[in-house]
Amino acid sequence: MGIDRRSFLALGSGLVAATGLAETPPPAAAPRRRAFVGACPPSSRELAGRRPGPTRVMFIGAHPDDADILCGCTAVKMIDRGFKVKFVSVTDGRMGHHRLSPDETARVRRAETLEAARRFGLDGYDIYGYPDCGLYPDDAARRLVARKIREYEPDFVVTHRTCDYHADHRATGQLVMDAGYLLGVPHWCEEAKAQRLRPVIFYMSDPFTYPRELRPDVMVDADPYLDKWCEGLDAQVSQFYEWLPWDRGREEDVVALGDRSDIAKRNAFLVRWTAGRKRADARRYADEWRSQHPGAQVPKHIEVYEVSEYGRAPTESDLRLFLGE
Ligand SMILES: [Zn+2]
Repeated sequence: MGIDRRSFLALGSGLVAATGLAETPPPAAAPRRRAFVGACPPSSRELAGRRPGPTRVMFIGAHPDDADILCGCTAVKMIDRGFKVKFVSVTDGRMGHHRLSPDETARVRRAETLEAARRFGLDGYDIYGYPDCGLYPDDAARRLVARKIREYEPDFVVTHRTCDYHADHRATGQLVMDAGYLLGVPHWCEEAKAQRLRPVIFYMSDPFTYPRELRPDVMVDADPYLDKWCEGLDAQVSQFYEWLPWDRGREEDVVALGDRSDIAKRNAFLVRWTAGRKRADARRYADEWRSQHPGAQVPKHIEVYEVSEYGRAPTESDLRLFLGE
């Protein structure tokens, strides 16, 4: 159970007074957030014994563009604030092209993720190498995912829900959920040291309604970060200018784009075709946005996350840290 938001704000204002900084008024009304449950709640000693250094976040997607598309603006915001951010693709993305061979696609996509990592300013873009469209949440994959999480010691992990459309997305979400509690079990997967303080796990956005819609526990205004997001996406030529337009039956749109070096035109193209989920979520969750941000306008694009009950239950300060507040 997180600390009450009112007492958190009181702590914050005490800090301001102690440091002599100009006092800023608290928000007009506190956002209404639900209470979260999580696997194996940490003791106060464990919470106090956090790893020193920058906040670390792992965005674990099934393919080498999932984290970029769905969470890229959040990642840019976090990196701006000094977080260490790692993107992960559990599969090699080898099925993501209509013309290149699978081996060639896997090779091209690996190179493109390296360039995307450079442009985003990531702490790494890891590809675990399971075959695209062939991932299963078995014991070996669970151990690999858990070992990687333990080695990086993230404060936050973000992954897919298990009701997403793609079998690899569902398997990836299942792997992270299955690892959630086991991360802290010392004799399981002894190749990497167990974590005393498990990470908070979030689900990235999807549009699916069965068994229920995504719950918008935290929302990030994506509008200020769209240009930098487009710069990162532009590194993955095989996806955003070849495969995805072909998969949508809209190859002519790429021809219409013409010169990619025209940055304004390129960004408008990427936002038009790739930020649809962010616009749809801004409409779908407008009421929740207003509730969580009293007095603020609803952005045009938002990135939305649901707290998973299979990680550590976040405190209010965890949520504010995730949001960069
Ligand atoms: Zn995917």
